[in-house]
Amino acid sequence: KAKKHLGQHFLTDENIAKKIVDGLSFEGYSKVLEVGPGTGVLTKYLLEKDVQLYLAEIDTESIDYLKENYNQIDNEAFVGDFLKTDFSYLKKEPLAIIGNFPYNISSQILFKIVDHFEQIPEMVGMFQKEVAERTAAVPRTKDYGILSVLIQTYYDVKYLFTVHENVFNPPPKVKSGVIRLIRNPKNGLEGNEILFKQIVKAGFNQRRKKLSNALKILNIPENLKTHGFMDKRAEELSVEDFISLTNVWKNSVS
Ligand code: SAM
Repeated sequence: KAKKHLGQHFLTDENIAKKIVDGLSFEGYSKVLEVGPGTGVLTKYLLEKDVQLYLAEIDTESIDYLKENYNQIDNEAFVGDFLKTDFSYLKKEPLAIIGNFPYNISSQILFKIVDHFEQIPEMVGMFQKEVAERTAAVPRTKDYGILSVLIQTYYDVKYLFTVHENVFNPPPKVKSGVIRLIRNPKNGLEGNEILFKQIVKAGFNQRRKKLSNALKILNIPENLKTHGFMDKRAEELSVEDFISLTNVWKNSVS
């Protein structure tokens, strides 16, 4: 029986499962981590590929089911809660991420991927449609926000396809969207990641205000107060604009 608090909605359509797995290129890495395998609808197709597979699943009932039904999976494959998984054991080896993700922790999953972009060249996965659209959103749209900027700083995002509620058991309340991330870090953050995230978050937290107001909380350096960006709202800035604002800011305070 599906556990709601774990975001369990099991995909029942084999073609869609296969299509999600085929979204990965399987090039440039030999390790793949699946988040939330559940009863293994994606896992089955991943096991056909020539990769070392890791499975992050917190539901012990699902883990038992997978062990019983897929004897190709070895015990070491199971790495537990994705949000607590320590990637350091991979010793910098590239790892692709795939999953029909638990929707209650979508943003946390995406932020964890961004935090480990150096190890993660590729991700393919399903989120609630609205989150999938936010990751791919462009400036001056209502979907463009913190998630869009942080992800697009490190990855090219492609919205692959939409999935209807009725191919899940139990059906979720909303439609789903499958996206692909291919690593392509925008150059030039020069180690100012922390300030960058603070600026992006503060800017969008008051997204109807001009940056001159929204960023006040971060103590805007004197010489930046007249910068052209300050008259704009966060959603008018491109990813590159946020990076250049961060670097100018950093130079004026150090
Ligand atoms: N992959 C299966 C499918 O497509 O039918 C199940 C997908 S279901 C939407 C999400 C899965 O994520 C569930 O199996 C749930 O137990 C698991 N899960 C929830 N929170 C998790 C976490 N923090 N780390 C790893 N797995 C998690």
